[in-house]
Amino acid sequence: MKKVYLDNAATTPVDPEVFKAMKPYYSLKFGNASEPHFWGQEARKAIDQARDQVARFLGCKSGEIIFTSCATESINLAHKGLVEALSRPKAHIIISSVEHKAVLETCKHLEKLGMAKVTYLPVDKYGLVKVADVEKVIKPETVLVSVMYANNEVGTIEPIEEIGGLIKKINKTRRQKVFFHTDATQGIQYLDCYVDKLGVDLLSFSGHKIYAPKGIGVLYLRKGTPLIRQQDGGWQEYRLRAGTENVPYIVGLGKAIELVVKNQKLVVKRLSDLRDKLVKEVLQIPGTKLTGHPTQKAPHIASFVVKGVEGEAVLLHLSDKGIAASSGSACTSGLLKPSHVLTAMGIPVHLSHGSLRFSLSKSTTEQEIDYAVKVLPAIIKKLRKMAPKGV
Ligand code: PLP
Repeated sequence: MKKVYLDNAATTPVDPEVFKAMKPYYSLKFGNASEPHFWGQEARKAIDQARDQVARFLGCKSGEIIFTSCATESINLAHKGLVEALSRPKAHIIISSVEHKAVLETCKHLEKLGMAKVTYLPVDKYGLVKVADVEKVIKPETVLVSVMYANNEVGTIEPIEEIGGLIKKINKTRRQKVFFHTDATQGIQYLDCYVDKLGVDLLSFSGHKIYAPKGIGVLYLRKGTPLIRQQDGGWQEYRLRAGTENVPYIVGLGKAIELVVKNQKLVVKRLSDLRDKLVKEVLQIPGTKLTGHPTQKAPHIASFVVKGVEGEAVLLHLSDKGIAASSGSACTSGLLKPSHVLTAMGIPVHLSHGSLRFSLSKSTTEQEIDYAVKVLPAIIKKLRKMAPKGV
């Protein structure tokens, strides 16, 4: 059976070049980077090199890069670590209502502990935060604004640079600085991530969305940003994340970033064209609607709602045809809970149950897109026929 993987926003395969770079660090160059002997120093050098690669990409200093295990850990460290370090009686945090669970749940936890009060920014029908809304809700107690760069369900790119500019301006007149974090997990591969240009103090992402392995992440932490580590132990990662460094994964991430830099322009152009073709074809099917912003959108994501079907059922039928897609987070663990992202965008529940997301990779081909759009109409037709009346 033909196999077409269109779920790259969930995870990507490890690039062969990345795997090749990692291999020696398993059994040949296996040292513990904290040790002063040759093996240890060889590992240390490899970590330093990867840190430099990431820092160059983000336009920051190497000492501002902390390696973690994934974006979720980076996000937890950023939010919890900052709030703990500032130790206000109650810190005020502002987040968008379309954040990934990693941000939503972390903030909920801080609220539950009585350490923070959270304000959720509304979004428009495309999932976009309004910069003016950020200004409206900043209070004297506000310590953190956290808005994602590109949305994982619908691909909408948030106005991070504009929010960063606003916060910079506001900070000039405040005693308590407002820190700015962005979850760049879905944007890192395609968007300009220069931290000074974006005006962010903290930025998180995961390796496995950019062809590095699962189990490695990054937190960028601007120099001078207060942070208490959330994992105690040794002095690794500038004493901000204890535990022996995962050298092969760190090396893999460095290589993956090197490849992003090398290919970004070409990949963005190619994927935008392929994605536009996919969108055009899917929208030919009656009762389908694009979700997310039509143009201000990460190039790898094409997301829709399909009237009269359950997204999960479409996925199963696509899978029978060898195609992997996703239903966003629409029906989390079979609970048929509507996606909080689509709800925030004002999409009615009966439509958001029919959500469908295709996400492309740098190696997705036109033939693969052609195959997906060829099989999809018949699946939708069949499911609509089977649906109880009134759905
Ligand atoms: N943030 C966004 C926008 C994501 O898409 C994801 C993963 O899908 C995460 C955070 C969490 O990434 P990880 O599971 O690698 O920690």
